[in-house]
Amino acid sequence: MRYKIVAGNWKMNLNQNQATQLTHDINKYLSNNNLPKQIKVVIHPPAPYLANCVNYISEDNNTTFGVGGQNCYTQASGAYTGETAPEMLKDIGCQYVLIGHSERRKYFNESHDFLAEKVNKALETRLTPIFCCGEALEIREAGTHEAHVETQLRESLFHLSKDDFSKVIIAYEPVWAIGTGVTATPDQAQDMHAALRKLIANQYDSNIAENTTILYGGSCKPANAESLFSQPDVDGGLIGGASLKADSFTEIISIMMKCLAS
Ligand code: PEP
Repeated sequence: MRYKIVAGNWKMNLNQNQATQLTHDINKYLSNNNLPKQIKVVIHPPAPYLANCVNYISEDNNTTFGVGGQNCYTQASGAYTGETAPEMLKDIGCQYVLIGHSERRKYFNESHDFLAEKVNKALETRLTPIFCCGEALEIREAGTHEAHVETQLRESLFHLSKDDFSKVIIAYEPVWAIGTGVTATPDQAQDMHAALRKLIANQYDSNIAENTTILYGGSCKPANAESLFSQPDVDGGLIGGASLKADSFTEIISIMMKCLAS
């Protein structure tokens, strides 16, 4: 099902009090603003705060507001010191998990195959994977960005059945735009999202492609959210820096509501 999603990736930021306060503030905003059912709001707090953040989501918001891990492992349990099983995320009330963020690919050398295993395990556990893809600057400059992102999907997602693929959310995040303040232009985002949808249609079918939620990520903030979210193939954003403050994150949610209404 294709949703409009505003997701916040908090990365390795905030302390427990700040994480609690931010969740509380977003929850309050959602309680005071009736969001259309097509819009979902997701936060990805650091692992130690996940359970606490889940508890700050009030009952009236629990179909709109979800929590996700920033990462997960490929096994359910065992001698894997330092890892978090998808089952554990599920157990504490998470609904989503980020897989393949460029920082995981870069600093932890996560390969296509490893990411494919994580996707499989997340789906088996009934977590919704938010699968991140995107090219580095030199790839964009060489003009091979579409082929690069195609390989990322082909190697880590296209083994999935139609049924399983339709449960995955994709986040296109050009690496050169993450945390840099440089945002893809609305046309650059739209072109890549349209290319992804075409690729999915060729691999699966046009119905699956039309129903895939594809988010944009990379220096998305209140000042540029409207121009990005109003692109026909951009279904929302994965927000890093601007998700760490309640006022900027809720402003992005309000922009999403405005775009959906217009
Ligand atoms: C991210 O890390 O997923 C991200 C998009 O970060 P930022 O919004 O800070 O560029």
